[in-house]
Amino acid sequence: MTKHIFVTGGVVSSLGKGLTSASVGMLLEQRGLTVRMQKLDPYINVDPGTMSPYQHGEVYVLDDGSETDLDLGHYERFTHSPLTRDSNYTTGQIYQSVINKERRGEFLGKTVQVIPHITNEIKSVIHKVADESVDVVITEIGGTVGDIESLPFLEAIRQFSLDVGKENCLYLHLTLVPYLKAARELKTKPTQHSVGQLREIGIQPDILVCRTEQPMSREECEKIALFCNIELEAVIEERDKDFSIYEVPLSLFDHRLDAQICQKLGLQTHEPDLEMWRNLLQRLRNPQHEVSIAVVGKYADHRDAYKSIYEALDHAGMANTAQIRLARIRSEDVESEGPERLLAGYDGILVPGGFGERGVEGKVAAVRYAREKGIPFFGICLGMQCAVVEFARNVCELEGAHSTEFDKETAHPVICLLDDQQAITDKGGTMRLGAQPAKLSPGSHAAECYGAEEISERHRHRYEVNNIYRGQFVANGLLISGTSPDDSLVEIVELPEHRWFVAVQYHPEFKSKPTAAHPLFQGFVKATIGYHTAKHGKTSSEPARPEPEYPNPNAPLDIKT
Ligand code: GLN
Repeated sequence: MTKHIFVTGGVVSSLGKGLTSASVGMLLEQRGLTVRMQKLDPYINVDPGTMSPYQHGEVYVLDDGSETDLDLGHYERFTHSPLTRDSNYTTGQIYQSVINKERRGEFLGKTVQVIPHITNEIKSVIHKVADESVDVVITEIGGTVGDIESLPFLEAIRQFSLDVGKENCLYLHLTLVPYLKAARELKTKPTQHSVGQLREIGIQPDILVCRTEQPMSREECEKIALFCNIELEAVIEERDKDFSIYEVPLSLFDHRLDAQICQKLGLQTHEPDLEMWRNLLQRLRNPQHEVSIAVVGKYADHRDAYKSIYEALDHAGMANTAQIRLARIRSEDVESEGPERLLAGYDGILVPGGFGERGVEGKVAAVRYAREKGIPFFGICLGMQCAVVEFARNVCELEGAHSTEFDKETAHPVICLLDDQQAITDKGGTMRLGAQPAKLSPGSHAAECYGAEEISERHRHRYEVNNIYRGQFVANGLLISGTSPDDSLVEIVELPEHRWFVAVQYHPEFKSKPTAAHPLFQGFVKATIGYHTAKHGKTSSEPARPEPEYPNPNAPLDIKT
């Protein structure tokens, strides 16, 4: 019988439910259990693919092409749970499916209602991931307890334990225990209220994980246990980690979270094997090198917008025993202040993906700076398209060359709409999405990094390199080192004369793991170490530049698209 863990969150959003769920998944896997991860999001969008990164952070793409919540990135980085379309459902999808059934007459004349029809649909998507081979399904409920739109999901998980038996379900609630500076005290009242709200709708949490900045005393834990009707041992402190998110599972292990889960669910396992994770942190704590990398993007002032890229850089840092000083630079600032002022001194420049015109010229200027100064450069998706535009304008002398995404009338449409995108009008789920194969040129930087000539990587784009210009690019020294197997789409471009200048049409960041850094990120970071050493003789000769100050992320947004 598959066991189910439901993870809810209370008090405030952004508590790190995704990270906690992923950590639980990792600990249970290391105990030898087969785990499936799933996220249910209460918003009405069918998927996050149509949302601004300012609203939602990055859109995480799976092999099957589904555009999902960024928490699925944590799941993939921490566990081996296979993720598919069934791993992330939203209110939008649940309603869409129920409405489709109603139109087909499947409800046989009944009035269609939230209970039981919507809740049944929610329960059925949870059952979908719980096949016989699975020991534990971890289902994270997005949003915060108390939100109106969360209610059907909470009701469904309440009913779930009646259907499958209480002994097969465990409710884990994540809350905030804030520290009040003036009173010099941790406050437990918000947690009491949040658990109170859960109990009102019939869910008694079995385990409370408390996010806190300060260590919790035994008295505070006892108070929470008493007021929330939870065993003292099941009140678990999750203190903020300023060093690395990869410490989270180890600290939850120290608080016996996984041991208690197994005990409460009656799962007989061995102790988790955490050797590999401890080694990983060991490497992170003892870097041999230090390099600085500038990520020049449109959403640089939003930490979650390029989440997987920042993570993949960290993984590559660990693989190279290098500490990476990351600077998030707004491409608009490069546009207005010039690359020399903002980008001088970095050991590497990365231009990530994106949509919309704002800041594009800043990205093109950053590419030019990296190319002309010989600084290691890594372009991803829109970053690759900008590299091609820059090369066309400044090396091939194609004046005014651009992508038709930004200039429909350009004299040189070096980036243009993919053929099969021409007739598409709907925005949701219609890009070239998911895993696609590519072949690499032997001897290229790319082939060298991968150690292979055939790869598969995840995509999310509508535009591509215009094949009409390929001849001119090659004649001027651009190497097209990766293409689709039939050669019809450019996947990777490089500059062979440059120390490390590689740009890819896909998103390698989605396949990087702390335990297996992505080959291209590894190659890029290695090149930044080489560049730094060539410049300074050693790699930690100067403090990396401090991260620029950006306005308070919670201030009202001036969103330009
Ligand atoms: N806007 C570009 C396209 O649609 C790049 C997309 C991306 O960077 N993910 O092709």
